[in-house]
Amino acid sequence: MNSHFERLLEKVHEIHDLEKAIQVLAWDKETNMPAAGNTARVQQLTTLRRIQHRLFASDEMGELIEAAAASLDSINPDSNEFCLIRYLRRHYTDERKLPDEFVRRVSQVSGAAHPAWVQARAENNFALFQPHLAQVVALAQEMAELYGYEDEKYDPLLDKFEHGMKTANVRAIFNAVKTELKPLLTAVAERAHAIDNHFLHQPFPVAQQQEFARYVATAVGYDFSRGHLGTVVHPFATSLSRDDARITTRWYPDFLNAGLFGTLHESGHAMYEQGTAPDLARTPLARGTSSGIHESQSRMMENIVGRSRGFWQAHFPRLQTLFPTQLSGVTAGDFYRAVNKVQPTLIRVEADELTYNFHIILRFELEQAMLNGELVAADLPAAWRAKMQELLGVTPPTDTEGCLQDVHWTRPSFGYFPTYALGNLYAAQLYEAATQQNPAILDDMAQGNPASLVVWLRENVHRHGRKYTPGELIMQATGQPLSHKPFMRYVTAKFGELYGLS
Ligand code: ZN
Repeated sequence: MNSHFERLLEKVHEIHDLEKAIQVLAWDKETNMPAAGNTARVQQLTTLRRIQHRLFASDEMGELIEAAAASLDSINPDSNEFCLIRYLRRHYTDERKLPDEFVRRVSQVSGAAHPAWVQARAENNFALFQPHLAQVVALAQEMAELYGYEDEKYDPLLDKFEHGMKTANVRAIFNAVKTELKPLLTAVAERAHAIDNHFLHQPFPVAQQQEFARYVATAVGYDFSRGHLGTVVHPFATSLSRDDARITTRWYPDFLNAGLFGTLHESGHAMYEQGTAPDLARTPLARGTSSGIHESQSRMMENIVGRSRGFWQAHFPRLQTLFPTQLSGVTAGDFYRAVNKVQPTLIRVEADELTYNFHIILRFELEQAMLNGELVAADLPAAWRAKMQELLGVTPPTDTEGCLQDVHWTRPSFGYFPTYALGNLYAAQLYEAATQQNPAILDDMAQGNPASLVVWLRENVHRHGRKYTPGELIMQATGQPLSHKPFMRYVTAKFGELYGLS
């Protein structure tokens, strides 16, 4: 490696380490910090974020990137060096567009919006959050203008989470999903009584829930020697390095699914980070390539693995020994059906695989309306209720169960929501490709063992980190650009069988 590249790496490592220190403070804020510490913590985070932004957007950084680029004798597009320069150039260009003063305002506005949202949600009082939401929307609009765009204002914001994806592509895919899912959802709704899930709702002591969640997280391949499980209000995963990729979960004492599937979901995120190649460490390539591909890994473990028949045939007996009274008379097959029951409900994170994407389409549409100035903050609750009725046929009785349920709009991170649904589509496409390339994966999955699937994911997704864009990665791994067809095949087969539709 030449000295120009080494000098660039030195700076990249410095910024990377600062980023991880920010993440420790952010992780601690959600897991351990007393609520009273919020004001001071927001100040600390704002200071560090501004320093990080200044370092990245400096003239010196631009010079280091270009000097290193000019000194590279090989431009092999698969080399770490090439991919790093490409990523840094893009990110540098974006960072230069954001003034320091804007970075400070984003951190401050979001820092104040979060506790207001927590209170508004707890008290079902949207008015408390409304002025903060108006400020957040204004910041998102300003950010879109600062980045600039050719077609739609939503494009540059979406691009930060799903590089290379346009709003128009997402809209076309979501419209196809909406049209094709509706008849399946209607057919399932007509046979709603076919699945009984009442036994999931009864007292389940949290200590045993935690023991089982750790057991299944290990069973899918999450490495606890390089991980950590914490308890929070809103679950997430964070990676401080590939050897310290943490997950968090919430536990409901009278409902099994939240802790169990939440843990599997976050394990999928953390396994992606644990699986990045060691030689990408301390660079921005040492993480998942996009929010959508990240979500594909979490949904893979939560649903394709964690809600499969084979998985419960293998692991249900252990669950039953932990909860002998609650699950007496329940079979592995009953349990498999119960955790897949389809039911239009109000809460996104608890939605089944068929209705989940509708929750995302709703947010995608409302978010664009707010960004484009067609929907003002004050009118959000009514617009939310109308869309829920239109898409899922249910109306939230409170805003807590409606537009206040998610944390995302406390930050101007518009463009994030659609990546959840894209994640479901990527997951199905990756799984289909994996099982075609290695049919033994299907046999292993029927035995409840995802190890060979994880090997395929490590090879085709995890190890690359952020070297490739999501579009390149999905093309390399599956031979096709993103399509909703594999997802439709997956849900049609699975729910057709579950509900006896064929
Ligand atoms: Zn997730």
